[in-house]
Amino acid sequence: MQHFVTGGAGFIGSFVVDRLAPRNGVTVYDNLSTGKEEFISHHFSNEYFKFVKADLLDVKTLAKEMRGHDTVWHLAANPDIRKGTASTMVDLEQNTIATYNTLECARRTDIKNFVFSSTSTIYGRAETLPTPEDYGPLLPISLYGASKLACEGLISAYSELYGIKAWIYRFANVVGHRSTHGILYDLVAKLNKNPRRLEVLGNGKQRKSYMLVEECVDGMVFGLRNARDRLNYFNLCAEDQTSVKDIVKILIDETHLKGVKTKYTGGESGWAGDVPVFLLSGKKMKKLGWAPAHSSEEAVRAAAKIAVKEHLKKSKLSWYSTQDQ
Ligand code: NAD
Repeated sequence: MQHFVTGGAGFIGSFVVDRLAPRNGVTVYDNLSTGKEEFISHHFSNEYFKFVKADLLDVKTLAKEMRGHDTVWHLAANPDIRKGTASTMVDLEQNTIATYNTLECARRTDIKNFVFSSTSTIYGRAETLPTPEDYGPLLPISLYGASKLACEGLISAYSELYGIKAWIYRFANVVGHRSTHGILYDLVAKLNKNPRRLEVLGNGKQRKSYMLVEECVDGMVFGLRNARDRLNYFNLCAEDQTSVKDIVKILIDETHLKGVKTKYTGGESGWAGDVPVFLLSGKKMKKLGWAPAHSSEEAVRAAAKIAVKEHLKKSKLSWYSTQDQ
């Protein structure tokens, strides 16, 4: 099978590639805006692997490179809600138009399988927790969520009109190796600047669900193999939540730093457009036969260890401890 992975040099996309590459031909199409070549460079010697550094807004190159593949995994996006709030064209361009371009090239090159990374944010402030896939009305509160909902609408229409089989996955927060954004990454970056004082966005009572990146990819592959409808859509999540206060505690434990003073900025949300409390229902995936092996809290603890190992600058911290003596 020939797989085409947009955003394949990104955090989640590179794990999709790791999973597919041993047994399939894989093309990564990525502009490296947030992705990194080092996440995929271990595949460069594989003759069935190809990396195309290009943009999804460049439709001519996209159509040329996509031709001849069986399945498109569309993971490229602006994944940062705050960036889309600051600059209102970002999500429209990088998510909605980029998805339209990807679908349109799939139609023109006669590709019949389309896998998409959607998000819990399409549900907005859902009143039903855990939130099932058929919850409505879908009223996102961020431009990111709105753009992803628009992408789902486009996928549904393309699937109906042009016979493209689609798998839409609505992820909870994904954490783990190679993460370049998200709460653990942000908090470690702050500790690198000042290991004595940690500013945390919101009041700490936000409660969300977290999943390890390997399990997220495992769920996507399982759904692709086992869900047989024309349009398949699933939440991919653990079925419990972890509060921001607990994440901060777990992370500080893992750093072994002593006397870190935490300061919460207050307010129920961390930033404009943030859904402070969400919990997705994993029942539909469970019925299909898949559930993540780790709870949200286990995923956070494992990812905190990784974030400390991958991103905490030990040299800086030893400078601080020398000053303490
Ligand atoms: P990421 O930023 O690591 O990956 C996105 C990749 O897309 C990057 O490699 C980037 O360089 C590439 N890209 C962006 N715009 C592009 C363009 N115009 N042309 C070509 N390449 C482009 O983010 P991620 O966390 O790995 O997210 C992957 C997908 O999963 C995204 O669609 C995101 O919305 C979705 N998602 C992520 C999470 C999470 O917690 N990380 C949660 C829900 C949904």
